[in-house]
Amino acid sequence: MLDTPNMTSPREVMALFKKYGLQPHKHLGQNFLIDGNTARKITSALEVEAGDGVIEVGPGAGALTVLLARSGAELLALEVDRGLIAMLNNILQPWPNARVINQDALSVNWAELLSSNFESAESVKLISNLPYFISGPFMYSLFEASFPFDRAVLMLQKEVAHRLIAEPGSSNYGALSVFSHYYTHGRVLFNVSNKVFWPRPKVGSAVIKLQPRQRILNDDEEKLFWLIVQGVFQQRRKTIQNNLARVLPALKDSINDLLEAVSIEPFARPEHLSVRQFAKLARIAYNYLNKSS
Ligand code: SAM
Repeated sequence: MLDTPNMTSPREVMALFKKYGLQPHKHLGQNFLIDGNTARKITSALEVEAGDGVIEVGPGAGALTVLLARSGAELLALEVDRGLIAMLNNILQPWPNARVINQDALSVNWAELLSSNFESAESVKLISNLPYFISGPFMYSLFEASFPFDRAVLMLQKEVAHRLIAEPGSSNYGALSVFSHYYTHGRVLFNVSNKVFWPRPKVGSAVIKLQPRQRILNDDEEKLFWLIVQGVFQQRRKTIQNNLARVLPALKDSINDLLEAVSIEPFARPEHLSVRQFAKLARIAYNYLNKSS
């Protein structure tokens, strides 16, 4: 049996980086977790069971990857940095259930990736210590794919974590919060100090857990839901009435009837509407549009 290096020991990680001629790249958001307790807390929150498929985004130096490989799950890790992949493949040799591929997580077709890699898995779970600068677009890509996972445990910049779980009326509440509430149940599990990373990031992090929620709109209504939610939050200080007239010009003359049907005050701001109200709005707007066509 090969001796596996401890990938949360700064000394061992730095020695391996030296051996492979690597260094952390700021432009790839490389802040590596160097605390075994935090790595164990994150991976155990995923509650991996035998037969599960697991996708890890950005395995980096392998702090979470080695623990996941040990769990026996079918692990597929997506990493953009080719230098790290060579090192990881060596570390992961004892676990044929773990694979690392060179893949940009922002250009994944999730449905295709899941069906071609996890046909027989009972459940597919997602885990990541996400590079901060891709958190927003990455979360959008998951919601655009209707959140095709049984669970996700993600470490994110604290601000993004709070946007994901924000409730109506809060200053963090925006389009990302609405999509997050529509597709998932989410909660913050714990905060993580910037002291447990090498190199240290300037921002604090939080770990969140997301579980899928049953969708309440059909595909056509959902398209309108996306259009409305993204559109109205572009001008969040304006009333919902003005925003909708801009976003749905074909319904310009029916906006007040539409709002009355959903019991929304015309002068309310988008940030005060709940996900249920947005969904109802999309369904009724869809019915209006199809009545008038
Ligand atoms: N999981 C490791 C840990 O916890 O120490 C590394 C986390 S580090 C914050 C983010 C990792 O994501 C880096 O390894 C980086 O190279 C990788 N990465 C950055 N952009 C990516 C992308 N678009 N797709 C996949 N991986 C990416």
